[in-house]
Amino acid sequence: MADFKTHISTSTVLGIGYAGTGILAGVPIDSAMIAGGLCGVSGMLPDLDSDSGVPLREAMAFAAAVVPMFLVSRFEQLGLSYESMVLAGGSIYLLIRFGVSEMLKRYTVHRGMFHSIPAAIIFAELGFLICGCHDIRLRFFNAGGVLLGVLSHLALDELYSIEWARGRLRLKKSAGTALKFWGKDLWGNISVYAKLLLLTAVVLSEPVVLDHYGIEAPVAGFRRHDAHEHESTDSGTTEKESIYEAATSFLEELRR
Ligand SMILES: [Zn+2]
Repeated sequence: MADFKTHISTSTVLGIGYAGTGILAGVPIDSAMIAGGLCGVSGMLPDLDSDSGVPLREAMAFAAAVVPMFLVSRFEQLGLSYESMVLAGGSIYLLIRFGVSEMLKRYTVHRGMFHSIPAAIIFAELGFLICGCHDIRLRFFNAGGVLLGVLSHLALDELYSIEWARGRLRLKKSAGTALKFWGKDLWGNISVYAKLLLLTAVVLSEPVVLDHYGIEAPVAGFRRHDAHEHESTDSGTTEKESIYEAATSFLEELRR
């Protein structure tokens, strides 16, 4: 199994290449750098399931700091005041730094479904959702960066399960446990595919996707007006509600 350094340096090199390709293809430099950065960071995502050590700690601290910044454009769409944004950002930091990392420690098994193709797609969908920008091509570009980073991790893990022993190549026991569609644990499989379905539904209900494919307003369920001090007239609020409802049920699902 490849170590943290190998993973992160591979995904970083890939991220630089990805950003460079994007710039050549006309992506604005800062957006390309964000997508490249996402690719670099995503190289450590699958190892969030290892309870000990660097990946989990680093990734959580990093995510806690960066996720609120990504969400600023969403906060703006909601018309939050500056103070509310600071409050929301701070709460998200604490939630990720302590809540999410505790949950990961408790409920994940190393080389379980975090190392799988459906999980890679889930991470990519989160990459699509995290940035609230209106250009669907940039959203896809971000998602692509995440997917590339995670896949590089899975491929490296598989590569490291081939070893040279007594003059011939042989596969270690860990072979086939990274680039897989399903694992041995039935509940793990159900849970990862349920999350995949849920997030796919969230992505498809994003205004930017609906607009792009010329589909009418989102499902009625995403237009609830309860418990909101802000007026739910603009699409920003609808979008926010769909995201938060999905995020809450996603977290609930994770907790089970
Ligand atoms: Zn791994």
